[in-house]
Amino acid sequence: MNPTRRQLLLGTAAILCAPHVIATPARPRAVVIGGGWGGLAAARALAAACDVVLVERQPRFVVLPLSNRWLAGRAEKRRLQHDYAPAAAAFGYRILAAEVLAIDRAARRVDTSAGPLTYDWLVVAGGISEDAAALFDGDAAASRHYTEHFASGYRAGADLDSLKRRLDGFAGGEFLLTLPLAPYRCPPAPYERAVVIAHAIRSRRLKAHLTVVDPNPPWPAYQRIFAERYRQEVSYLPNTRLRQLDPYRQVATLDIDEVHFAAAILMPPQGAATLCRTAGLTAPDSAWAATDARHFGSLADERVFVVGDSVGMVSPLFGHYPKTGQLASRMGQIAATEILARIAGSRSEPALPDSTCYAWVDLEPAERVRIDTSYRRRGDGELVQTIRQQREHQPGAEDDAWLDAHLRALLGPAATG
Ligand SMILES: Cc1cc2nc3c(=O)[nH]c(=O)nc-3n(C[C@H](O)[C@H](O)[C@H](O)COP(=O)(O)OP(=O)(O)OC[C@H]3O[C@@H](n4cnc5c(N)ncnc54)[C@H](O)[C@@H]3O)c2cc1C
Repeated sequence: MNPTRRQLLLGTAAILCAPHVIATPARPRAVVIGGGWGGLAAARALAAACDVVLVERQPRFVVLPLSNRWLAGRAEKRRLQHDYAPAAAAFGYRILAAEVLAIDRAARRVDTSAGPLTYDWLVVAGGISEDAAALFDGDAAASRHYTEHFASGYRAGADLDSLKRRLDGFAGGEFLLTLPLAPYRCPPAPYERAVVIAHAIRSRRLKAHLTVVDPNPPWPAYQRIFAERYRQEVSYLPNTRLRQLDPYRQVATLDIDEVHFAAAILMPPQGAATLCRTAGLTAPDSAWAATDARHFGSLADERVFVVGDSVGMVSPLFGHYPKTGQLASRMGQIAATEILARIAGSRSEPALPDSTCYAWVDLEPAERVRIDTSYRRRGDGELVQTIRQQREHQPGAEDDAWLDAHLRALLGPAATG
């Protein structure tokens, strides 16, 4: 076996391998864009009957559900980042370390930074995009300034490291945290992050204050915590819109007020991964991908599925599925099962997804909320969503066990060894 072929099979150092050396497969080729929760789940399931190539631009899988704990200094970086190679070896697919630049749906081809790659079936699992320009009326220079100084760190990549440096280096003054309008990724996570900042202000005895500007209705559990435990440190402003932002003078204009800030996390409006828009997979009036609600097949192309946080409205009753990792991985499995069924000449009865999300409500005394979301189909076929929230006053390591189970399912048995 020559080294290139061996590397391909192991899924290692795939960036060295241009796609044209990947031989035409005897089995149908499935290309999966994005090695996050949705893409990894889809790749694993598709490998049962397809030649799968997963294309990912980041060198490692980053566990965002741990990121707030890491920002608070309560999780190690090694637990946040995981190599892809063991997943590819364990489940029998290949990883191409490259950026997908474009999707040519007519030619069934993706163009990557390492060359073109044809497909029979395409799963787009690119996560979210953030429209930073929308914060600054389309001003490109202001958007670049934002990325350097105020980025949300809400996606895997360099922004998260720079956010950690910004938080560790925060020495005092006004800290501004702005949320986007829902839907956005992991609904409780911005509030959990606010608690991390408030706790840092108090425990580091900083002369500082945090303003949380939230265009959404209040989240009662956090509203109470901010009012009862962090009255000195936090002003929480629900149902409040950001009217204007001057990133250079560091002034935010709100509905009836102005905030001058020394540091900030500004969360721009979110939408489907950029590729969904450029490949015509979003609805004309929406920032999110248009798919069927059951199998996540694109409404624009029967050979394309979109899974994970990119997916748009699925229900007239509750709108979007919660944008969580667990739900993204369920979508990946459902879409892959449907692709395998279609290859076999049939259709699949989709499983109903579910989601669990853990978020810290306070760090000391430790308190956590667990949010479980489940679904059932009512008589007329519409999905009904049930959300249960449980407050845990003496939280154990249940969130770690939840995460480990997902990591083993996504990355293989060695992931937590
Ligand atoms: C602070 C925080 C806390 C959270 N807590 C929880 C929790 O408790 N429970 C839970 O279930 N979820 C939680 N989440 C949400 C969870 O992380 C996301 O819902 C999940 O990552 C979505 O999976 P995805 O596959 O859609 O996207 P991602 O995991 O973001 O994966 C998308 C991948 O696609 C890649 N990609 C995008 N475009 C391209 C391209 N052009 N070429 C190549 N690669 C590309 C990206 O690099 C990325 O790796 C949390 C998120 C945050 C930020």
